[in-house]
This record gives sequence, C-alpha cells and structure tokens, in this order.
Amino acid sequence: MPNGVTGKRPRVPWNQTNSNWQGVTLPVYMAYCSIAAALRPWNRIERKFIATLVFKEDYYQPIYSQAAQVFAMEIWKSSDWETYIFEWSNSPFRDQSLAEKNGRGIFLSPPGYRLTDDERLFSDIVIEIEPRSPEHARAALRRAELPVDEKLVELLISEPWPRLHSAFQDRRGPLQALERLRRETARLKRIADQTATHSGPTLEDMHGLGPAVDWGHNLAKDLADYKNGLIGWNDVDAGVLLSGPPGIGKTLFASALANSCKVPIIYGSVSKWQEAGALDAHLKAMRASFKQARDKAPSILFIDEFDTLGKRTTSDRNAGYHNGVVAGALEQLDGFERREGVVVVAACNHPRLVDAALLRAGRLDRHLELMLPDGPSRRGILKFHTGIELSSADAELFEFATEGFSGAEIERLVRDARRAARRQADCFSAIHIIDQLPVLEKLPEDYLRVIAAHEAGHALVGFEVGHEVSGITISKWLVSGQRRVLGNVDSKLPQVRARTKTTYLDTIAIFLAGIAAEMEVFGTFADGASGSSEADLNRATDLATMVEGTNGMGRTLAVEVPDPEEFARMRLYNPELREQVHGLLESELARTRSIIQRQRPALDALVEILMVSPTMTGEEVVQVLQSNRRSVVSLAKAQLRTGT
Ligand code: ADP
Ligand code: ZN
Repeated sequence: MPNGVTGKRPRVPWNQTNSNWQGVTLPVYMAYCSIAAALRPWNRIERKFIATLVFKEDYYQPIYSQAAQVFAMEIWKSSDWETYIFEWSNSPFRDQSLAEKNGRGIFLSPPGYRLTDDERLFSDIVIEIEPRSPEHARAALRRAELPVDEKLVELLISEPWPRLHSAFQDRRGPLQALERLRRETARLKRIADQTATHSGPTLEDMHGLGPAVDWGHNLAKDLADYKNGLIGWNDVDAGVLLSGPPGIGKTLFASALANSCKVPIIYGSVSKWQEAGALDAHLKAMRASFKQARDKAPSILFIDEFDTLGKRTTSDRNAGYHNGVVAGALEQLDGFERREGVVVVAACNHPRLVDAALLRAGRLDRHLELMLPDGPSRRGILKFHTGIELSSADAELFEFATEGFSGAEIERLVRDARRAARRQADCFSAIHIIDQLPVLEKLPEDYLRVIAAHEAGHALVGFEVGHEVSGITISKWLVSGQRRVLGNVDSKLPQVRARTKTTYLDTIAIFLAGIAAEMEVFGTFADGASGSSEADLNRATDLATMVEGTNGMGRTLAVEVPDPEEFARMRLYNPELREQVHGLLESELARTRSIIQRQRPALDALVEILMVSPTMTGEEVVQVLQSNRRSVVSLAKAQLRTGT
C-alpha cells in the first residue's frame, strides 16, 4: 500500500501540537467525544481516579481503547497509556492491582459483560457511554477541517466501527479515507441490490399461469396488510390447491409467490413424508414441515404430490394408513390458530384423488387448475429462460411447433439448444432454438388451399344458420410425425336457448360443412375430417345418433340413455338406427352443399384471404361474408326463427 501522505501535509489532520494527538483518526476522535463528555466532571490535570465506562451497544475495543488513551494522556501526562487503559474481563486481578498501584485507570466494560459488585465498588465512577451521535461526527469533521456535510455525518454514524477503523488510518488523510469508505459502501449496496433482484423469479416472471398469478398478487397484498396489522389472519386467503400436469410450473410458481410476497418458503412433499416409513413416522415428518413453516411465519408451506395423500376409505387394504394420514393433515390444516401465518400451497396432478374434507372452507378451499401455456405464454417462458425475443416469423414457427408443450418441455428445448450452440462453439441465439424445434414441413400451396376451403366452409355455413363465428386460423406447417389439427374455426349459438331438433341439425350441418366445401371446390375431400372422436364426421355421426336414438327427435320416441361411449355400440346393434343416422347425415350434407353452392362467391373470397393471412378474426370473417353473399332467404334461418 503506497503511503498516501505527501511530505507537504501534516501527519495529524488537525492543528494539534500536542503529541498525544498524533495518529488520532476521525473515528477515534468521535469515540473520544463520548468519553470526554461522560468524564467531564473528572477532567482535571493529574486528578487521580479509576473509572469504569459501561458500553451497552456500538462498542469496538480498538477504537474506544485508543480514545480512552488520548483522554488519559491529556490528564495524566504519561506516554505509557497501557498502564491506564483496561477492559474488564473474567480475570481482572492483574489489571486491578496495576490501576490500584497507579491510582489511575479507565476500565472498559463491553456490551454483555456483567460487572460484579466488587468491580463497581472498586471503581470511583461507573458511567454509561452513549453511542456516537451526529454531534460527535460533526465535531470530528470540523476538527479535520472537512466540510460538515450531512451525508458524511450519516456515513460516520451508520458505518460499523470496524469498517471505520479500517478506512481511517494514520497514514491516510481523512479525505482519502472517506472517499474509500464511500466507494466501498456504494459497491456493497450494489451487490446487495443485485442479490435482492436476482434471488429468484417473482410472479411478474410467470407466464401462462393466469388465474394463479392473479391470486398470488392478491395474496401478496393480504400478507403485506397482515404484517402491518391492518387485517387479521382470518382475512388472508391462505390455502390453495394447484393442479395440473407435471412440469407445468407448480413448484416454480410457489417459489415466485414467496419471492413476490417476501416471505420464506418451506418445501414439503407427501412422498418425502411417506419415505419416513410407518404411519407414526409419516405423521411426524408432516408435522415437522408444518412446524418449520410456523416457526418462520408468515411463510408459505409448499406441499408437493398432495394427491398421493389418498382419500379416507373403508374398503382399501391400507384404509388405516390412509385414514390416519388424512386425519393428520386435517389436524394440521384446521383452525386458523394452528397455522396462523402459514399459507399452504398444495400441488397435485389429479385433484380428484384429494379427499374432499381437505378442500372444505378454511382448509384448502381454493382450487386453481393450471393449463398448458398458450402460444404467447410459451414465448414468454422462452424469454424467461433465455432472454431471447423471437422475430415475428420465428415466433410463428415456435408457437406452432411447441403446441402442447409444458414449461418444463420448453426448458428442456432451451437446454438442448444451448448444448447445440456449445458444440458448434457458437454464441447461443434464436437460431439454435429454432433448430431444436420439432421438424416442420411447409404445406404446399394446393394443400393449404384445401384446408382454407374446408375451414371457410365451416365458417360460411355457421354464419348462414345463424351462429356467431369467432375467427378462423389455418396453419402453414405440418409437424413431421404428428397428426395435428391444421385449421380451426370457432362458432357458437348467439345466445343460450333450448336445443330443438333444428339446433342439432344446424350443428350437424356446420360439422359437415368442411367436407362439403372441399367437395364443392375440389370434387372430393381429404381424410382430415374423420378418424378421431374430435373429427368432423365422427362428431356429426354422434350428433345424428343422439337425434335419432337418444333424444326422440327422429322417427321414433323410443330412446336409449345418452352415453357417447355407447353410440357406436348402439349403431352396431341397431341396423335401423344406423340406417336413420345415415339418412340424416345424407340429407344434412345435401343441405350444407346447397348452402355453399348458393354462397360460393363468399366462400371463395374467404379462401383467397386465408391463403394470404392465415388468421382472421370473427369480425373480419363476418365482414367478408356479408359483402360477398347473395341475398337469399336462408332456409335454415327461417327454420331457426320458427323454432321448430
Ligand atoms: P411442476 O411442479 O408443475 O411439476 P415445476 O415447477 O417443477 O413443475 O417446473 C419444472 C421446470 O419447468 C421449472 O424449473 C422451470 O424451469 C420450467 N417451467 C415450468 N413452468 C414454467 C413457467 N411458467 N415459466 C418458466 N419456466 C417454467
Ligand atoms: Zn373441419
């Protein structure tokens, strides 16, 4: 360390000719002020006394003993200060006899030291030393001929003594020392701020967890009010069951919740408790988690795999065990006094497996179901893990290719992409993410046209029979090896009304409209409209089965109990029913095709627009249809109005 004092500057920062003042630094002078103030009545040259200075707080031996030394040398005129200054300890005999021999001494009694009666008796004065004050700091600054700046004063009375001691040293000027101190303090504050903001995600960082995040924000407010005594624990919404598939972010959400609420989180897990063994050990482990949370209250207790707790039962071979565990959990959850200050966030995959008693009022009476993230949320999750914002073209690809991904799956994709970038010795970027996506094939134009015509058909017929059309999307890509819905159109009845036969027939017509449009435009239809229970033809067939077989709306009123799983069997074993279903579908297909024939220009207009922009809103669709349709009185509408 270079010597900071130049030859021109006096070694002692203030004009004090007495050599006792040599090396008295700014913090030592502050301490001196406290001691001098306490000992003022005894402050006469060569007066003999033994004093005990009692420190309740703010004590630092190197500083105060040096300050006491300055005081002692001023009145006792000796350079041998060590014979005068002592610290009370558990074996004070040598010090005591030395002080007694000299008739002089200043004993320091550190915070926490219990003075004995003998030690009090031994001292002429026992006096408490006040902690340093702004006044002392100002005096020290004046002495050092520094500006009496309130920020410096604040620094001098708030910095811990050891830090002041390290900063201010004899060989350094006080200005230089202050500068070092200030810089170091700013650095520490920066680190503290950084660790505070990087200590983990908050609710703001969570994407795709909609209702849970809203609930979390409310809880954060409740907890803040509770901590400030504005509301009681009863008013805090303190129990929630989160459900959703694995990897959807339940655990991550709980930790973000704790960060946002600024409370500690305790992680419990039913399977961990279970590992403890027999019922007794299991219950003990469970109670320990709750106790840990209570000890840190207000806190969040996260309980994973809550559905494995099981339900109370009488039939099961393990009934005794499960009943015992559930009863144990009820005991812990019950009554606000038992868990005052503890918010319980339980997570599970299968909420139906949770015993209903655990979900009653006052326990986990709120159930939040987490859904797989939608497209924009998936992009948000990607950004959370990478900080990367995709270009709009990449975003479209990403959203399409990651349909059905959970947060954990997106994280895995990011990990793979980072690894690939490392292998290529590349800087990680959006390219690596796009490279990791499932392989996409761009649909050829003529295929795209088939899909556009199909979806436009649904939209057109929906509109013609009086449904509200809420938008169309078609996809330009195919994910290799995946059977995916490539287009989508939503429509619904404009208002709730009793479902008549017309309602059913119109809905069947809408389901058939996709293939009807393909037939009108291309003379044939592709296989996308059948095969799965969600496919157009399958749904139309089931609806027709309901009309004929279970609703009494067809040729017979003799019906069966409606059970979608049974429809196929009903048709198989009832040839007459099958015949009726067939007839109904045929006549509805004919009606649908005639609607499309009549409004072909409107259908073609929709197709052309979809070929250019694959997503249309409901209003856009309606606008195109209205401006291109031929005005004929729709049969379907006439029927709807009469309500037959
Ligand atoms: P769960 O508890 O529902 O099984 P986790 O919370 O353990 O799911 O999620 C596993 C990992 O997946 C997390 O560590 C995180 O990296 C990622 N993840 C899940 N959901 C999200 C999300 N919404 N945002 C960001 N990352 C997520
Ligand atoms: Zn369709």
